[in-house]
Amino acid sequence: MSHVDAATIIDLVEQRMPESARETYQQHLAACQHCGEEYDFWWTFLSGLGPSRLTDAPNDLIDECIAMFPKTKRPFAGFQRARILFDSFRQPLPAMGMRGGSADSRRLVIRVDDLDVHIRISGKQYCRTIQGQLLFLDSKELIDDAQISLCILGRANQLTSTNTYGEFRFDGVPGGPAYFLINLSSQGRIAQFSIKEDSDAIQC
Ligand SMILES: [Zn+2]
Repeated sequence: MSHVDAATIIDLVEQRMPESARETYQQHLAACQHCGEEYDFWWTFLSGLGPSRLTDAPNDLIDECIAMFPKTKRPFAGFQRARILFDSFRQPLPAMGMRGGSADSRRLVIRVDDLDVHIRISGKQYCRTIQGQLLFLDSKELIDDAQISLCILGRANQLTSTNTYGEFRFDGVPGGPAYFLINLSSQGRIAQFSIKEDSDAIQC
């Protein structure tokens, strides 16, 4: 059996797998140090994001955790590097450019390999609306089967799927750096990135 990929490990941690399939993987995890460590990492990471009695972790601690996450782990097989193509917080919109872009929303375009993620964040700092669309760089193919997980440290994960236009939406998103995990199930790959509230997106 080859190593268990990150998407499967996340399914295991979140117990989204039939008992029968789980056992095979559990046996591998118990025997394979590499996968065991991956599982421990995801278990710690994801369980730390669940419902908790924490109100807000101190900002410096959150920053430390977020900064630690992409750097201390090697990139996972099947994970791709993210980079920011555009961030309206850093590049004010040209007057003639994106019309309808208002000052009270932030727009980002994040590229993960050949996937562009268009994001608009609006609303109150503690109750944000995050709308987005997934588009492939060189293809008109619509991404209507992606699952998107949004994690804010110390808060319950929010899950959604893209609609037939590749669009998704999260409402009532609390403050804090937002960690996105996009599972392109039809392609068997995962894209991930984080967005800080103030300055820039963190590349993973
Ligand atoms: Zn393994």
